[in-house]
Order: sequence, then structure tokens, then C-alpha cells
Amino acid sequence: CAKESSRTSYQYYCKENNCEAINEHTMLSNIKLALENKDFQMYYQPIINLKTGKIENIESLIRWFHPEKGYIPPDQFIPIAEKSGIIDQIGEYALEEVFSQKKKWNDSGFYLEKVSINISAVNFSRAEFSSYIKEKLQRHGLKGEEIVLELTETSFSTHKSKMKENIEEIRSFGVEIAMDDFGTGYSSLARLKELQIDYLKLDRLFIVALIEEDGQEVIKSLISLANALGKKVVAEGIETEEQFSILKKLGCAFGQGYFLARPMPAMDLISS
Ligand code: C2E
Ligand code: MG
Ligand code: MG
Ligand code: MG
Repeated sequence: CAKESSRTSYQYYCKENNCEAINEHTMLSNIKLALENKDFQMYYQPIINLKTGKIENIESLIRWFHPEKGYIPPDQFIPIAEKSGIIDQIGEYALEEVFSQKKKWNDSGFYLEKVSINISAVNFSRAEFSSYIKEKLQRHGLKGEEIVLELTETSFSTHKSKMKENIEEIRSFGVEIAMDDFGTGYSSLARLKELQIDYLKLDRLFIVALIEEDGQEVIKSLISLANALGKKVVAEGIETEEQFSILKKLGCAFGQGYFLARPMPAMDLISS
């Protein structure tokens, strides 16, 4: 509360806000430069069918290796890109890159059912987003069924109506939709049923809790809920053999995580 805060803490806050503003400004010009210099790269992490052990899907994850600052994680620059609108260009980069990569894999005979792409709610709620996706599918010669678009659970609550419309249109092309980081937001069960989503991606925090007895109960009920609603479950962030075998035992359909495979450049994927 401003009234009660001492002069020093007030100054401290001022300084901090100012510092944040400067950082955001610098970050934004760095993002623009990185787009120009092609410093972004897509990495790919296999999503595995836990029953068969087969790779059925691959999640694309953006990577930024800054020439001086080194690796900058997406959680640090995506939110700033979203605020400024430059996320449109980042989204365009990621979609173009991943669609053409998928086409290359198809042409080279590397069998892979689907690729997943993380999409910011800012992009997804644009009026023209579904026709934009349709055009991309046609231009790259891909079927909608080859693509999964991931949206975080929290984005569903902030961009309601336009997202819903876009989801319906995009699903009509055969593209599937995943709700990412499920468990970090507040989706009511009614909402889950009403939303046209194909996958529920259980946030890593649920997986960490698996070693606790009630942690397993939670996952078990989430899996049966998802099954009842006709949605496929993906467990995120599987880091240990123990987590892996518990999830298998609980009947979780898909999983990804460092224990199975780390995100890697497209080149490494073919040779692994
Ligand atoms: P996400 O979509 O939930 O991606 C999963 C994150 O968990 C990734 O972090 C991945 O590298 C990491 N991860 C995978 N397996 C494990 C594991 O076993 N343990 C742990 N601790 N982590 C694991 P990353 O790449 O830093 O991405 C963070 C978030 O940034 C993503 O979360 C996604 O929301 C966003 N993001 C990433 N790439 C893109 C993109 O191309 N476009 C947009 N709009 N957002 C992106
Ligand atoms: Mg994701
Ligand atoms: Mg996630
Ligand atoms: Mg996440």
C-alpha cells in the first residue's frame, strides 16, 4: 500500500518498475534484431505413445541463442512479445518453420504422424487466424491431421469468443487442439466439456506429485475424466523412470519429458 510505504521502499519500487520498462524495451529491440538475423530456431521433443513406445507426435519449441547473451528461454521473451504485438512475427516464423519441416520429413520418408506447435492466444484470437492456417496447410501440401496446435489453459479464459470460433473452424480442417499446462488455470468441468479440444496436456507439476499417494489419485481421476469427455491425455515433464512406469500403469496415453527425450534440433531427431 503506497500510503504506508516508506520513502525508501517507494523509491525502490519506482526504480524497479523503471528497470523493468527498460528491460522490456531492450528485449523488444533484441527480438526485432533476432528476427532479422534469423537467430531463432525450432527444437523438437518427441511425444511418445506410452503403450507402444512409438513416437507419434513431436512438439516444436522455439529456441533463441543470442550472440552475446547466450540462451534466452521462451518464458522470458514470449510474454513481452505478446504485449508488443511482435508475437505475430514470431508465430509466423514458428508456423512456417515447422510446416516446412514436417513436409521435409514426409518427403524424406521419416514417418511421423503429427507435429505440435505452441500458439499464443494473441495469435489464435486474431480474426483471420483460421484462414491463415488453411492457407499454410495448402501451400505446404500438408493435411490438417498432421498438425496439433497447443494453447495454454489460461489463454482459454482470456480470449473467449473469437478463440472458440477459430477452434471450430480450424478443427474442421482436421487440425487437432491441445490444452497445454492443464492444471495451472481454472477450467471448470463444464468448460472442458464445452471446449472443442482433442488433448489435455497435464502440467509437469502433476507429474512431480506422482510419488505421493494422493498425487496418483489425482492423475487417475483426471485420466478417467478426460476419457469420459473423449479427450486424449499427454503427461508433460516425465523426468524419471518411476514417473514413466506409474503413468503407464495408470493408463495415460501419451507422455513427453527428459526421461524419454530432450528437445533437439530437427537434424538430431532423424539420427536418434
Ligand atoms: P510448454 O508448451 O508447456 O512446453 C514444455 C516445456 O517444458 C518446454 O520448455 C520444454 O523444454 C520443457 N520440458 C520438456 N520436458 C521436460 C522435463 O522432463 N522436465 C522439465 N523440467 N521441463 C521439460 P521451454 O522450451 O522452455 O518452453 C516454455 C514454454 O514457452 C512452453 O511451454 C510454451 O508455452 C512456450 N513456447 C515454447 N515454444 C513456443 C513457440 O514456438 N511459440 C509460442 N507461442 N510459445 C512457445
Ligand atoms: Mg506446449
Ligand atoms: Mg506445457
Ligand atoms: Mg508451459
